[in-house]
Amino acid sequence: MRCGFCLPACPTFRETGLEPESPRGRIALMKAVADGVMDPDQAFADQMNHCLGCRACEPACPADVKYGQLIEQARDAIEDHADHGLPVAGIRKLFFKGVFPHRGRLKWMGKGLALYQKSGLRHVVRGSGLMRLLPKAMREMEQILPEASGQGVVERIGTFYPAKGAKIARVALFRGCIMDVLFAETNVNTVKLLSEAGFEVVIPTAQVCCGALHAHSGEMDQARELARANLKAFEEAGVEYVVSNAGGCGALLVEYDHLLHEDAEYRELAAKFAARVVDVSQLLVARGRIPAFDEAAASGSEPVTITYQDSCHLRNVMKSSNAPRQLMKQVANATFTEMHEADRCCGSAGIYNVTQPEMAGQILDHKMVHANRTGARYLLTSNPGCLLQMKLGVLKHGDPEAMEVKHVVDFLYERMADRSDP
Ligand code: SF4
Ligand code: SF4
Repeated sequence: MRCGFCLPACPTFRETGLEPESPRGRIALMKAVADGVMDPDQAFADQMNHCLGCRACEPACPADVKYGQLIEQARDAIEDHADHGLPVAGIRKLFFKGVFPHRGRLKWMGKGLALYQKSGLRHVVRGSGLMRLLPKAMREMEQILPEASGQGVVERIGTFYPAKGAKIARVALFRGCIMDVLFAETNVNTVKLLSEAGFEVVIPTAQVCCGALHAHSGEMDQARELARANLKAFEEAGVEYVVSNAGGCGALLVEYDHLLHEDAEYRELAAKFAARVVDVSQLLVARGRIPAFDEAAASGSEPVTITYQDSCHLRNVMKSSNAPRQLMKQVANATFTEMHEADRCCGSAGIYNVTQPEMAGQILDHKMVHANRTGARYLLTSNPGCLLQMKLGVLKHGDPEAMEVKHVVDFLYERMADRSDP
């Protein structure tokens, strides 16, 4: 089928109006390469890399084409023959192999970043003009990075947190890699929210990065290695659910069964694991005792307006768009306003905003027109990448004093009427 129903859903096609920038066009290019009609040259690689991987084309497709799997295979094949040159190849190796898979090194990275942010070094570097040596996208990112920390969720609250009241289920938190360095507080708040809703939470310490950044960047073997390590770590935890609070991570975790479908040893375990993965909002709505979110009303704060930017992977892969909205609508003194095209990608897409800054910036510009129209005091998201991208959008096109960008979990936790320990 080449019906084209996916075209209007595709952000890059909407921005350019060009067929090769659409899902149908990219699939045609992949087929041409697979059939030997076209060389997998740089132009082909560029076209594949322009794709955000947002997967908005999948729910739009009547033939259920698994575009996400196609683009990952295409990128993996491109990477097998890629010649990045020394600096890029070195950076890829450093992060994909040397940092993301290793918890200890991530902690040191968090400590280093925290030192940079808190010691005044940041002001010296900014004042010295050294930042001008970095590409614009990196300079912008540096401005909106949250306070980093070497203290992740386990260092803050341990590996076990009991349920408040009667236990509904035992669950495990997937803490993420970057998430636990830049958003450790959100991980803590996720655990406390789950506990308040009746879930006993464990945090397996042997867990590693989910592998999403690797899979989306053509490093499939490395992604599979990480998946195997996670399967072992969570199997030993004996839990009913594996809970994610980052759409990007959750979307790969629910597809571990596909990622390892050719691995005879791990195939079955991967399918069992994938079936247990949920986003925190999905679990709270489906099985939790939803806490009272009326702290703002109790403390007499001003009523606020809130809006939500969907995480593409939470919406298009984990199929969850209602659960976060359902929770937000239960907060007292907060009026939920739907943002026009909240379901469209914000341009973050993993590291897309760094590797493809022009298209990412264009998409973000349009997103911010809609965000500003909501007049919301809080713009909420369910994924760290979207959160940073929307923060950048507010900095560039809005007013950071008037609109704060937050993770849904943090917003809910702050408004939980009872935040006492179990
Ligand atoms: S994943 Fe997103 S950007 Fe890529 S083709 Fe599909 S809709 Fe377009
Ligand atoms: S990917 Fe699906 S929606 Fe897009 S052209 Fe092919 S069949 Fe149609």
